[in-house]
Amino acid sequence: MTLAHESVWILGDQLSPHHPGLVAGRRVVMIESLARLNQRPYHRRKLVLIISAMRHYAGELRAAGYEVDLRSAPDFLSGLRDHVATFGVRHLICMAAAEYDTRQFQQRLEHDLGIPVTMLPNTLFLVERHPPTRSPALMEPFYRAMRRQTGLLIEPDGEPTGGVWNLDHENRRRYDGRPVPAPVRFPADTITQQVIADLARSCPNAIGSADDFDLPVTRAQALVALDDFIAHRLADFGPFEDAMSADHDLLFHSQLSPLLNIGLLDPLETATAAVAAYHAGKAPLASVEGFVRQIIGWREYIYYRYWELMPDLLSANAWQAERPLPGWYWHGETRMHCLSCVIKKVLRSGYCHHIERLMVLCNFALLAGIRPQEVNAWFLECYIDAYEWVVTPNVIGMGLNADGGRTATKPYLASAAYIDKMSDYCRGCFYDRKARIGPRACPFNTLYWHFLIVHEATLRANPRLGPAVLGLRRITEAERQAIMAQAATILAQIEAL
Ligand SMILES: Cc1cc2nc3c(=O)[nH]c(=O)nc-3n(C[C@H](O)[C@H](O)[C@H](O)COP(=O)(O)OP(=O)(O)OC[C@H]3O[C@@H](n4cnc5c(N)ncnc54)[C@H](O)[C@@H]3O)c2cc1C
Ligand code: SF4
Repeated sequence: MTLAHESVWILGDQLSPHHPGLVAGRRVVMIESLARLNQRPYHRRKLVLIISAMRHYAGELRAAGYEVDLRSAPDFLSGLRDHVATFGVRHLICMAAAEYDTRQFQQRLEHDLGIPVTMLPNTLFLVERHPPTRSPALMEPFYRAMRRQTGLLIEPDGEPTGGVWNLDHENRRRYDGRPVPAPVRFPADTITQQVIADLARSCPNAIGSADDFDLPVTRAQALVALDDFIAHRLADFGPFEDAMSADHDLLFHSQLSPLLNIGLLDPLETATAAVAAYHAGKAPLASVEGFVRQIIGWREYIYYRYWELMPDLLSANAWQAERPLPGWYWHGETRMHCLSCVIKKVLRSGYCHHIERLMVLCNFALLAGIRPQEVNAWFLECYIDAYEWVVTPNVIGMGLNADGGRTATKPYLASAAYIDKMSDYCRGCFYDRKARIGPRACPFNTLYWHFLIVHEATLRANPRLGPAVLGLRRITEAERQAIMAQAATILAQIEAL
């Protein structure tokens, strides 16, 4: 068999110039599957990003001499069958998908297509390039092993640069109003404009708008976005990593996740660029270590956990939360200023940063006992960087602690005190950030104490939450009853908060 009888199938989230299946002389097949694009009502900006990036990538491969069959099809299987029949393909190569269902589909392909199928490891993740020798139960040892393996911020004697592994304590500042450099933007070119028009027809149920689409869609643009972050926002990334502001979507975050998640950027090159900025004296260690931790620590750990916990993770519901997702998650019309601002940001742009995802959106859902699967679906549909491998462990695992603590060792619970400390949301809110009982009491407060009371025995058993539960000792029996009564009213009127 010659290379002329082989094709490599490249998925829309595998657009790496270093895709291991790219071999000169081997044909490339890429499929715009209508079924996959319409599997959920996804955010339009995400759909445009993927399809435009696929079409640009196909063009670049053709310019480099590859024969590329980029086709639209009702679904992946019919597209692949047509491709195999049209080109007389006798051997298909693919890189293992990052998502569970697609990988299962790939594993059935040999049977479904009737030709040999070779699956290559997914080299877009560092943890697949160098799998850990034993299963790391916690993120911190996982991260340290990744630092040692990559050599990032490791001194010749094997010790961490600066003498400590973790500089999080330096990274908890509230936003102080300093100017935020506007990120570089990429107006839609003719290919992207065509994609916007095509998707308006083929994905009528998609949410949000792509009218002001300005995301990078090529490898070259992704590198410009990386350089822009390193040059203009990395230095302040660390101190303001947890800060939230009603006036800023991005603050000093990178917004590189959509590019990393489709292969336009490589995690190692991204983290290495940050380390180079530290060595060049352009960013302090706390910012650079914080960023490296996100990329080679959290991101890889989340992917690793996903594959350990699937498929059971999808149905996990450790806190037995059964309330439906409030309707205002779909429009943001609530008097809770933090939730209103964050939800409107997300619906408009498909983005908000990590702390808003964790400590506002998921925190409320956890405290209010919202069904994890509904929260997971909302995150999958609303974000430009959403893929099951990253959403589900972050939402069901980290945000809602519904996996019994297998992703994060403690539930991330917070009252208004935390949101007020890290943001400007509480100013101008209808609710009183200091009250937990009364008509204007902040629902986060009432529901926080309600959660502690209801789950007291379970929480007391968790060493990381003991101190929070100790706070219950200062609450009288009468206050407990008032909190329970107020929480019952809030939960009964959740749609009207
Ligand atoms: C409830 C919840 C839902 C999330 N959903 C997604 C999602 O759909 N897609 C997604 O890519 N990330 C998700 N994350 C992780 C994180 O919030 C985003 O990666 C980050 O906000 C993306 O913005 P950024 O690129 O500006 O990140 P930065 O703050 O600039 O961080 C740099 C990079 O670190 C990586 N990273 C940091 N934390 C995580 C993490 N917990 N998991 C995976 N990667 C991480 C991302 O690649 C990110 O680009 C979620 C987190 C939570 C708590
Ligand atoms: S007072 Fe409560 S609801 Fe209002 S912004 Fe603060 S935390 Fe959110």
